[in-house]
Amino acid sequence: MAAVANFDLEKRTLVIEAHLALYGSLATQQIGERIVSEINRMWNEPKAAIEVDGTLFDIVFHVDFGVYSQNDILKMFAENTSHRVNFIRIEERNIAERSMMGFGLGENSGHWLITDQLGDSTTAAHEFGHALGLPHPDELDFRNSGNPPIMAPRGTLVDADFQWNPLAEPGMTGGTMRPIHRRVWAYEVLNVVKDKILGTTDSFTIGNLSPHLYDEIGQPATLSVS
Ligand SMILES: [Zn+2]
Repeated sequence: MAAVANFDLEKRTLVIEAHLALYGSLATQQIGERIVSEINRMWNEPKAAIEVDGTLFDIVFHVDFGVYSQNDILKMFAENTSHRVNFIRIEERNIAERSMMGFGLGENSGHWLITDQLGDSTTAAHEFGHALGLPHPDELDFRNSGNPPIMAPRGTLVDADFQWNPLAEPGMTGGTMRPIHRRVWAYEVLNVVKDKILGTTDSFTIGNLSPHLYDEIGQPATLSVS
């Protein structure tokens, strides 16, 4: 995903804006509402702030969405020059067998699976993090450090309470992170913006404009307007 960041000097906020342009056979108003509600709630939860030119700015995420027909999405994609817009195809399955974002970190095109309980599982918030350019952590052992971060992948080691099965041995079946326990930590928010800020007069973009949409099963596609 990509996004656009703007300083609001009056409100002392750094606002990160993204629009999810949803398409595909399972893109609906209802799923869109659940996805953006999870992303906004989770990414605003840590109340991250950053000091720039001697002033502390709260970092605020404003993510919204629309549901578009195939033809509308093609036109939008062809004409789009804004990092604010992200093209997300929603389907039942794909060749990767998981929700995915783009062809590299920070891309504004993705293919997400309804079977990942989008909006109720932290998957949408995790994919949003990739879209903002964040990788998985290098170290995948988060025992004794509270809730695992949003960018922790499946298989991460966590305290017993955050495992699929609290009684399982760490790393064995049931002994890895249950994704619902992930939280966005303030340092993850800061990782998105810290190297991009030059001063409060600058707005800046996050991520890249992808050259591709996806076909139904998640292959990069050049789709033609019918
Ligand atoms: Zn991931």
